[in-house]
Amino acid sequence: MGDASARRLMARFNTAVSVMALIPILTFLYLLSIGSVSVSGAHGLTGVYVGLALVIAGLGFVLGQQLIRDMVRRLVDANQRLQRLNDQQAAFVSNVAHELRAPLTVFKGALDNLADGLYGPVGPEQVQPVAMCQREVGRLKRLVTDLLDLSRIEAGKLPMVQQSVVVQEVLRASIQLFEVQLKERGLRLTVELAEAPLGVTGDPERLEQVFVNLISNAAKFTPRGGVTVRARRAGEAVRIEVEDTGPGIAAENLERIFDKFERVGESEEGSGLGLPIARDIIGLHRGRLWAESPPGQGSRFIVELPAAAQPQGAAS
Ligand code: ADP
Repeated sequence: MGDASARRLMARFNTAVSVMALIPILTFLYLLSIGSVSVSGAHGLTGVYVGLALVIAGLGFVLGQQLIRDMVRRLVDANQRLQRLNDQQAAFVSNVAHELRAPLTVFKGALDNLADGLYGPVGPEQVQPVAMCQREVGRLKRLVTDLLDLSRIEAGKLPMVQQSVVVQEVLRASIQLFEVQLKERGLRLTVELAEAPLGVTGDPERLEQVFVNLISNAAKFTPRGGVTVRARRAGEAVRIEVEDTGPGIAAENLERIFDKFERVGESEEGSGLGLPIARDIIGLHRGRLWAESPPGQGSRFIVELPAAAQPQGAAS
């Protein structure tokens, strides 16, 4: 909560309390006007009782109001402190990730060149350690990129373009990245894409990031069988499904896997950030991403995006 919204909240609270203070006064005036109470009747001991009751009620009201105001102020202050801490933490993660990215890119480039023999032939006993370094630097770079994306999303600063996107084009580009890997591992790849262009509005690169993450997970967690990618129109939405024949996901974990750093599988690789980022990106496109896993039938990840309005005269 920012300073301005905290001030607005306190002002609203003060107005509400002032309005509430009118209630007993108005009630008393109303009772006076209909003759249920009379000032002339309140003399002697009765007058003292009535006066005392009014003073006690007024005191209770003022004290109660001060107590609640104090508590609200404390809560607002604590909330602001937490918000500031959260912002500082996000800024710290973002800065560190940003600083790490540049040297990691240099390391990766140099290692790739080394492996490709650009600095001279790589001896047989050097091949394995160089490959290991390449793998680890690649992993670190992905983690740093994920952290940077996440901190930008949380700060509401993820750069995203808004343009017309044909889902099949983005999906084909994403699928292409895995064709060789799936084939080499003897996994079947089935692609069922609607023929008519499925148009959505958004950022093609961010959507590709989501599809790549889902297909990469499907490939990673599937030891045999295959991966199926589908896309079709479903009412007002474009529905994309990535299905695999892997071990599936237990019902109690179907939502947990979208939490940050949550990894429930047995895979060695991965940071547990891919799915939360994917869900946030789809959310920024006003869509939904969720997982289903009927027992014994692998996993299915479903993305639904609002379909773009059809251009005039276009067939569906
Ligand atoms: P990671 O980088 O660990 O893959 P993700 O956020 O992409 O991070 O996935 C989080 C967890 O969700 C994974 O560690 C795994 O436990 C589970 N998961 C994701 N996709 C699948 C899938 N296709 N089949 C089974 N489990 C999956």
